[in-house]
Amino acid sequence: MQMWDEITSRALGEGRSYLMEHEAKALLEREGIATTGAEAARSAAEAVEISSRIGYPVVLKVLSPQVIHKSDAGGVKLNLNNAAEVEEAFTEIARAFGDKELAGVAVQKMAPPGLEAIVGLSRDPTFGPVLMFGLGGVFVEVIKDVSFRVLPVTEADLDEMLAEIRAYPLLRGFRGRAVDLPALKDLLLRVSAMVMRRPEIRELDLNPVFLYDKGYVAVDARIFLEQPPASPPPRKITDLRPLFYPGSLAVVGASDTPGKLGWNVFRNLLEHRFPGRLYPVNINARTVQGVPAFPSVGEIDGSVDAAIIIVPAAHTLQAFEDCCRKGIKFIVIESAGFAEMGAAGREMEEKLRRLAEKYGCRFVGPNCSGIINTHHNMVQSLGIVGELGRGNIGLIAQAGVYAAGMLWGMRHTMDFAIVATIGNKADLNETDFLEYLGEDENVAVICMYLEDVKAGRRFIDTARKVAAKKPVIVLKSGRTEAGKKAVSSHTASLAGNDQVYDAAFRQAGIIRAADNEHMFGLARAFSKQPLPAGDGALVVSYTGSWGVAAADALSLSGMRPAELDAETRRRLEKILPPHVGVNNPVDCTFDLNAPQLRDIIEAGLACADVSSFIVVLQAEILHTYARELPGIDFRGKPIVCCVPGKEFAMKEVIALEQAGFPVYSTPEEGVAALSAMYRYAVRHRTVIPSPP
Ligand code: ADP
Ligand code: MG
Repeated sequence: MQMWDEITSRALGEGRSYLMEHEAKALLEREGIATTGAEAARSAAEAVEISSRIGYPVVLKVLSPQVIHKSDAGGVKLNLNNAAEVEEAFTEIARAFGDKELAGVAVQKMAPPGLEAIVGLSRDPTFGPVLMFGLGGVFVEVIKDVSFRVLPVTEADLDEMLAEIRAYPLLRGFRGRAVDLPALKDLLLRVSAMVMRRPEIRELDLNPVFLYDKGYVAVDARIFLEQPPASPPPRKITDLRPLFYPGSLAVVGASDTPGKLGWNVFRNLLEHRFPGRLYPVNINARTVQGVPAFPSVGEIDGSVDAAIIIVPAAHTLQAFEDCCRKGIKFIVIESAGFAEMGAAGREMEEKLRRLAEKYGCRFVGPNCSGIINTHHNMVQSLGIVGELGRGNIGLIAQAGVYAAGMLWGMRHTMDFAIVATIGNKADLNETDFLEYLGEDENVAVICMYLEDVKAGRRFIDTARKVAAKKPVIVLKSGRTEAGKKAVSSHTASLAGNDQVYDAAFRQAGIIRAADNEHMFGLARAFSKQPLPAGDGALVVSYTGSWGVAAADALSLSGMRPAELDAETRRRLEKILPPHVGVNNPVDCTFDLNAPQLRDIIEAGLACADVSSFIVVLQAEILHTYARELPGIDFRGKPIVCCVPGKEFAMKEVIALEQAGFPVYSTPEEGVAALSAMYRYAVRHRTVIPSPP
């Protein structure tokens, strides 16, 4: 404690954020982290004195607040074996850095060679402290083979983190040399604990750390300090159920004029038969779309559970305050023209937040497209939405198009429970909604389209909890890096925001989707089919090549074609034509037909190693399968269909999808969905993967 303050206040007092090696190592040693140590010598004689005390061989390094990369300019002298060599090294360093402010020369033990690793910490604008690990030298410089985890971490996080780097086999043991993994994990845990206690550590590099078969030693260390910004106190958590299931709803800006957004919103509520009371609020209308209107929210008698505001930005603040005064606790602001427009808009959002705080209410938006809850017949969208089925998919979207435009097509092949748009999230954000959807009994699968995440740590913790109950699939856009701030350490230069998102998602057990097609492809499988209980799949195809493609895709994604036992082979022999051998993939040639597929599936259902089915079907006779498949009792084993040219057999695809069979264009897509379900089952259910 004392030493920490002494060292950091001296550095900050001298106006430097950079702690020199001897300072950083002294602090690390206090945390129980093994380093080579480093003592500052002011003269050659002192350097010799220290060397003989600690024992040869030694290393001398320049110590200067102005030198960050010491070896670049000849500031590191290795393997010095006697007083003469130490004196010479001292003189050379003093000469080479004569123009720099020198704090002396560091004298330290020369560490025996080990496997070089880098351990680092940086701060991510979204997720806060991020730990990095990788192997040193070319691995990090050239291949950038590093992995990240957001702090704090658990031991299980560390196991995954270490296993994630490509050079992991080197850690596990290569040519008889292994690394002391428990000691390495202890190092990572100590760095984490230290950083969690010291928010003023902005960046840290232990580069390199030498890893041995017993223990490790940090041979270089640097730390950068920065006074952490004060974080705003989090708002108290509210039960959001009334927002998703309001008994009564006021619509401020509901309009009687077709074409206006306020018309659309009110139309949607009426058309979808919102089950509670609806109060259109409009100063200029006595009725709105046939419903008696109120000139202001204040004039509604009786209490109102939630309100939608869809008026021009300039009138929003007033409308919002009226709702607050009325005692409405949940307000959805669909009006646009706020933070997305610049400083004045941001200021208005700040005012909304202050009002919400004062009146104890919560709000969605602004600049959103409201909430859809098919189980409550509630559609608040800005765009007109046609008939919707009641499904089990929850969708949280940072874009309005997911609550109208995209639904027009998607509703044919998948059904949503809740679609919640978040807009500018001036108050309620993605994590609040995620937490709520985690609780909602009608939601079995959660999809999120996100452009950014607020308060990353809470997001990870919440997602981890929710993902243990239901799959969470996230499409995060903005993968390219813009406006990266200048960083000092190696770690920070490698920790791009997207890499950290990736790590955070993995840590939370989130399934990251590559694009919209992928996200909704996964959602269709998760929402319609049970999880596979094992990694063995039976592939049935009418074309050899697509069967092979499915088998390849399985192997690449941690699954495999199931082993067929003797009994199953006997059954298949009877089903298949004599010119077709019994294999998995089962290649039925173009002769494949619906009754035959049923028989093959029945045989697969009886085979212990078959935990799932991938079937490649002919588009031209898809209607026969659409009739046959729903009649089969799959007994908890999932199936995905792949149909080349499915775009041209949409009627049959829709029939299959509506009967609960996800249909993909290619075996790769089908396997991507199935294997995501398998991995989810391994992580969150009691499914044990078979050994490789
Ligand atoms: P830089 O500031 O350039 O990163 P380092 O302190 O990391 O300087 O030294 C450069 C290299 O010298 C290290 O990567 C390591 O291989 C070697 N080295 C540094 N200190 C020691 C030491 N005490 N024992 C053994 N090798 C060392
Ligand atoms: Mg170094």
